[in-house]
Amino acid sequence: MAKEELECSFCGRKKPETNLLIAGLDAHICDRCIEQAHGIVVEESKQEGAKELTSELMLRKPKAIHTFLEDYVIGQDYTKKVLSVAVYNHYKRLLQPQDEDDIEIQKSNIIMVGQTGTGKTLMAKTIAKMLNVPLAIVDATVLTEAGYVGEDVESILTRLLQAADYNLEKAQQGIVFIDEIDKIARKSDNPSITRDVSGEGVQQALLKLLEGTTVNVPPKGGRKHPDQKFIEVDTSNILFIAGGAFDGIERNISKRLNIQAVGYSASRSEDQIEKENLLKYIIPKDLKDFGLIPEIIGRLPVLTYMNPLDAETLRAILTEPKNALVKQYKKLFAMDDIEFDITDGALDYIVEKAIEYKLGARGLRSLCEAILTDAMFDLPESEETEFKVTKAYAEKALQKSTIKKLKAVS
Ligand code: ADP
Repeated sequence: MAKEELECSFCGRKKPETNLLIAGLDAHICDRCIEQAHGIVVEESKQEGAKELTSELMLRKPKAIHTFLEDYVIGQDYTKKVLSVAVYNHYKRLLQPQDEDDIEIQKSNIIMVGQTGTGKTLMAKTIAKMLNVPLAIVDATVLTEAGYVGEDVESILTRLLQAADYNLEKAQQGIVFIDEIDKIARKSDNPSITRDVSGEGVQQALLKLLEGTTVNVPPKGGRKHPDQKFIEVDTSNILFIAGGAFDGIERNISKRLNIQAVGYSASRSEDQIEKENLLKYIIPKDLKDFGLIPEIIGRLPVLTYMNPLDAETLRAILTEPKNALVKQYKKLFAMDDIEFDITDGALDYIVEKAIEYKLGARGLRSLCEAILTDAMFDLPESEETEFKVTKAYAEKALQKSTIKKLKAVS
């Protein structure tokens, strides 16, 4: 077809009558029709609200979720896979037609066990970002039973409402990440605690939220509902992800594994067990032995673990993720027209220090800050156009800065 004969497949305008004609596979669309179509999409999504949100979510199949996680989280392959499936199933559940048959898909709330700084929060954040749903990150240690000093369990939902900018529909499809869930384990072997204020009582209070219930939530300074005392939040479609370090749980695991090895000849023999990373073998019973009540464990049916971060992983975290630290610093310096570069030697040195001070991945940031602060202070007003961090530079900068402070943090 000659160029002049091209026309918009929607309104029929010829190419010369349009400002822009975009070609598709077998059709064309003009700028006016694009605008009109866009208007319809915006209007529809306003009306559809939650529905639009969920149908968008359906587009992400587990492999696509996994690929998205790969961009932000280094390693942790098992958890990435487990989460991809759990999240997919969770949002599939939201879409299941009501009353069609008696099969009700249950919630796939998740519990992640692994040392601090291994990426548990990052996983939850990344999933929320991908799904474009609100995320509330709460610390289980501040929760107490109603009536005691501390925060009621409902405060979790206040946070979620805030994260959703008080859009109830959105909040009800959001994600709650409960950090340090291990800290509310029952302290039964510690009789000196007379009232287990922050232990089993909180677990009991959490149960209903995890399962799905309607809760009256105080909006707390809610901007959009100043007159309303409570907002009724239905938690049945909220995805709960819990995380905890469960310090010492390896002991329970190794005990259990040894017993099995002796008890059943067909079971895993001891030398097949990877002793470095016993978390791999975690099962719900280990959580129970640690002090989580069985009901809570039942409501967090997807159990997964995080690997400890080795030097290689830490090194990759510095440079590989989409928003890796090195990429961030490059961008910051580029804003002042300075080309930032860092040598492999310097990167290895930072990793070495992070391991030495037991700072994990979280420490990488503090180390980089300590090394780069002087340069970030001086260079913007200098004539420099290049800044290269070598191992020697990093060593010197760290010597004179906050080495001691960093040590104190660990
Ligand atoms: P956790 O919740 O397990 O204590 P976080 O997710 O808060 O740990 O991780 C702390 C920091 O370390 C995050 O800012 C993140 O950038 C980085 N980090 C930790 N693990 C990873 C990982 N596997 N991949 C990429 N970055 C990571």
